[in-house]
Formats: sequence, C-alpha cells, structure tokens
Amino acid sequence: MLIDSYDRVVDYLRVSVTERCNFRCTYCMPEKPFSWVPKENLLTFEELFEFMKVAIDEGVKKIRITGGEPLLREGLDKFIKMIYDYEPKVDLAMTTNAYLLKGAAQRLKDAGLKRINVSIDTLIPSVAQDIAGKDVLKNVLAGVEEALKVGLKVKANMVPMKGVNANEILNVLEYCKERNISVRFIEYMENKHAKEDIKGMKSPELLAHLREKYTFSDDGFDGTSPSHYYTLEDGYRFGIIEPYEDDFCKKCNRIRLTAEGNLIPCLYFDEAMSISESIKAGDIKGAALVLKEVVRTKPEKNRWGGEDGEVSSRAFYETGG
Ligand code: SAM
Repeated sequence: MLIDSYDRVVDYLRVSVTERCNFRCTYCMPEKPFSWVPKENLLTFEELFEFMKVAIDEGVKKIRITGGEPLLREGLDKFIKMIYDYEPKVDLAMTTNAYLLKGAAQRLKDAGLKRINVSIDTLIPSVAQDIAGKDVLKNVLAGVEEALKVGLKVKANMVPMKGVNANEILNVLEYCKERNISVRFIEYMENKHAKEDIKGMKSPELLAHLREKYTFSDDGFDGTSPSHYYTLEDGYRFGIIEPYEDDFCKKCNRIRLTAEGNLIPCLYFDEAMSISESIKAGDIKGAALVLKEVVRTKPEKNRWGGEDGEVSSRAFYETGG
C-alpha cells in the first residue's frame, strides 16, 4: 500500500497519455503550445503499461486516462485492455472532450473502460465554438449519447465563466439530470496558459444561482472525491469542485503521470520526478522507488491561491487536469 507522510493512502493514478488536444479551450490551451513534446520523449503504451503494473502492484486501485485529449493517441483501447487484463478490478476511467467518442466508445468499453468524465461547458453551438475554438458541440453530444448507449458510466464537468457560459448552468444541469449524468461545476483555476480576463465563478455564486430554481441539501465531501456534493429534492446529485478550499487535500489519494513520465504528487505543485529513465531501462525496482519517493513527498495541501497567490506554471493539458 502507498501511504504518504500525512497518513493518506494513495491509490489513484491519473495518466496523461498526450498533451496534444483537438480543442483550444480558452481556460486551458487557447493557443497551440510553441512546440509539443517530441514523440520520442513520450513513453510508449508498452512503457506506460510497465509503470501501471508497478503502480497496481504497489496498491493503485483506480487509473484515469486523461490528456490533452486522450482519444487523439492511437492504440488507446489496446493500452486500456493491457491494464484490464493485468488487473480487471482496477477502476478504469477516462476524461475526454468526447469529440471523437462516438466512434470509439464501444471499443473502449470492450477493452475494459468503465467510466468517463466529459467536459460539457455549454449546450449552445456558437458558445462551444467560442470556448473550444471550433464547431464542436454536435460531436461532443453525439459522443455522450454513444457512451451512454454502450453502457459507460458518464459524469460531466463544466467550468462556468462569467459572460461566457455562466447563464447556462441550469441548462447544463437539466441536460445531465435528464440522462442521469452527475455534473460537477469546476471553479475556474487561474493558470499561466489560459486566456487572460477569464472570470470564473466561485461556489457561493454558483449555489446562489442554482437556488433560484432548485432546493437541495448539502452532502459535503464524499470519500476521496474533490467534489462537494449537493442533492436535489428528487435525489439528483451534482457537485462543485472548489480548488481554493484545501478541504479535499485532507483526503487526497491521487498522483499524476505525464506522457513524458513525470510523476507529480499534486496538481498545484511544480515539483515532479521522472520514471522515464528507469522504465526505459527496464529497471522496475527503480521505477517503484521513484513512485514511493513521490508519494512520500506529497504535500499536505495544495498551494493554490495561497498567501502568495501562487499559480502553477504547469499546464492543465500537460497534467491532465
Ligand atoms: N481533453 C479532456 C477534457 O476536455 O476533459 C481531458 C483533459 S482536460 C485538461 C481535463 C479537465 O481539466 C477538464 O474537465 C477541464 O474542464 C479541466 N480544466 C482545464 N483547465 C482548467 C482550468 N483552468 N480551470 C478548471 N478546470 C480546468
């Protein structure tokens, strides 16, 4: 079992399989980065799988594939199947923008994927175009419907932004509620790569807006999820992710791996250690030592918006959010 210096069990690994994305979301990657990480610096799926085995053997029970846009990387279903065949009990999930999901959902499900989180920031095509930089909504919604059809469990993420999509909070919730998809509103997190002038919404404003239409109870935090949950009178549950609170740090169980092999103990820290060299050399013991060291040095709290207002210089598309 992996236990950090604050007695937290670390059993959740998020793996960014590519930093590339087919969207240019204003809050994440408005401009194509000056250069992508060269392909030869990325770990192959076989190499990533070697590390997945190490992580699973050490106690990781949940693996989420993310990016960039994970569906851009060819052979993703085979990677998922490798993990599934090694340990079918691993909770295999993916975070995607769903643009390419319609054609991939069945293959991913057959490979062993259980759940997906989809970014649904808007239900208005022109707003989707403004946020993502191209006309994406039709494909995204078709991807969501297909995922539901093939039996993947689906959750939605929305980043509400003032003057952009904040007026759609209720509509997105309704869309999700009708499909029994739990939606989580994510407070916009400032970062050096996002478009300037984005004004996110904090939890109190979001809640006030939602109260105009709904009555709901406050369920607080649930297990290790960073989401603060609320339940409507009819039993539908939605969440708010509040990175400016450090409440969820107390139960944080996650670490992150980038496509280049950097293992990151906290989304809001720039520190990382590479597993690339040991994995490429077939040094499994070495990779396990790096994993344990990263877990040991996992910080107690995120540094987000702390006294010095620090923002991470690492991009969300690199860490996978
Ligand atoms: N391409 C996939 C997607 O769109 O979901 C996966 C990668 S994306 C970086 C993962 C998550 O990070 C998404 O839910 C996205 O909304 C979130 N995200 C990215 N930048 C963010 C920001 N500045 N503030 C809050 N959430 C952000």
